[in-house]
Amino acid sequence: MEPEPGTTRIYRCPVCQVDTPHAVRAKRAGRIALKCSNCDNGSLVDQGELQLYQHRWEDELRQILDNLGAHGEGRGGDEGE
Ligand SMILES: [Zn+2]
Repeated sequence: MEPEPGTTRIYRCPVCQVDTPHAVRAKRAGRIALKCSNCDNGSLVDQGELQLYQHRWEDELRQILDNLGAHGEGRGGDEGE
């Protein structure tokens, strides 16, 4: 799951504060240059931080989809933390 130039990653733009797809522009020494698709501003993000964010985002998305898909399946509330 390396962020390759030409792909997009969800990230919270530090300029417009929106969770939005960012275009990966360049990758250098563990840092990723991203461009916000909302305000066109560039950000330089640590690769580890970006992956962490991606995981959190995917986790949240999966939970939302799980909740939608859990209709009718009598699955008890498993509220974790
Ligand atoms: Zn932005």
